[in-house]
Amino acid sequence: MTDAEIAIIGGGLAGASAAAYLAPHRSVVLLEREDQPGYHASGRSAALFTETYGNAVVRALTVASRPFLAAPPEGFAEHPLLSPRGALHVGTDGDEAWLAALLSETRALVDSVRAVDAEEARRLVPALKPGWVRAGVLEPDAQDIDTHACLQGFLRVARSHGARVMTRAEARGIARSGGRWRVDTPAGPVSADILVNAAGAWADAVAELAGVPRRGLQPKRRTAFLFAPPEGVSVRDWPICIGPREAFYFKPDAGMILGSPADETPSVPCDAQPDELDVAIAADRIQAVAELPIRRIARSWAGLRTFAPDKTPVVGFDPAAEGFFWLAGQGGYGFQTAPALGAITASLILSGTVPNGIADLGVAAAHLAPERLPTA
Ligand SMILES: Cc1cc2nc3c(=O)[nH]c(=O)nc-3n(C[C@H](O)[C@H](O)[C@H](O)COP(=O)(O)OP(=O)(O)OC[C@H]3O[C@@H](n4cnc5c(N)ncnc54)[C@H](O)[C@@H]3O)c2cc1C
Repeated sequence: MTDAEIAIIGGGLAGASAAAYLAPHRSVVLLEREDQPGYHASGRSAALFTETYGNAVVRALTVASRPFLAAPPEGFAEHPLLSPRGALHVGTDGDEAWLAALLSETRALVDSVRAVDAEEARRLVPALKPGWVRAGVLEPDAQDIDTHACLQGFLRVARSHGARVMTRAEARGIARSGGRWRVDTPAGPVSADILVNAAGAWADAVAELAGVPRRGLQPKRRTAFLFAPPEGVSVRDWPICIGPREAFYFKPDAGMILGSPADETPSVPCDAQPDELDVAIAADRIQAVAELPIRRIARSWAGLRTFAPDKTPVVGFDPAAEGFFWLAGQGGYGFQTAPALGAITASLILSGTVPNGIADLGVAAAHLAPERLPTA
């Protein structure tokens, strides 16, 4: 029997960040079903940090996470976690009202957001077709995140404070008795006072296993693929280019271009695989607006972004079961909000409060609490 004060189910970014923030204060064991942490959503993201994405709570969590990602603690990572990218939303004839609304909404959040005309849009992304692009909105301070370094950094911090990371340790049975949780896994049983449910797309399934009501979390598949830029074209300094109403995006990725149809297809929790049709749709949309012939897909993949009905993460103790803590529903923003959500998780568990610096940005425990959602 492995004993700890806190057992975290899920070795993705959510579980790893929670472990890093909790391990200095409590004994922690992290349980991951797969051979290695980060196999699911956390190994498949588009690695973008944008302060204009998501609802007001998500944007506040992103702003709150920036200082950590921009200057992580000594020894967290060998290289910077953030690097300049920029995000350019583009539109064509008929998109004027949408672009104007996007500009006023996002500039209210981030001062540096500004309108760009077709000429500047094409200076930033020269492949955009002159006959198509009419205008855009630029978020110059959007960043790329080194997602691998981020996950490994949190795991390293957790381990350095004594956290145990168990792989091939799927929680298959969960029960509470005598004031403790018992989790049965193929790697042996685990006992803990508090259970943190950081199981990503499986968060509702893990709750059900523990006899806790589901909260209506919906995994949604998103597809991505890599293709080579045209011969002799350097794409390194392009911003991510996002189509009208997020119909597609493409961004430089280590000498290649990452494309996506920005799909959100509801899925059961699973090892998501790309659908060829989604790749073809994205390739069509990208080639309609940009001189980027897609001759060969070098690699394609898909991952599940898991959302609560109100698109806000679910973080907090469930009133229906003592010691059962949710850390789920990070949707398409799990990396850019991870430091804030990790800090909130530790603070809610240790002292029942949201850290001051994050509360000052307008994030209250009630925004994140599982009981705000109907049981499903
Ligand atoms: C294509 C794509 C693009 C994205 N782009 C961005 C982006 O640009 N910026 C951004 O911030 N975010 C982005 N995201 C979202 C981000 O990747 C997720 O929000 C984040 O990775 C979620 O982390 P997680 O730990 O909750 O989930 P996961 O990484 O899925 O981890 C959950 C873990 O729980 C484990 N597990 C499940 N059930 C059990 C069990 N019973 N026992 C033990 N272990 C279990 C699973 O094996 C899994 O490893 C993107 C996601 C996708 C798919």
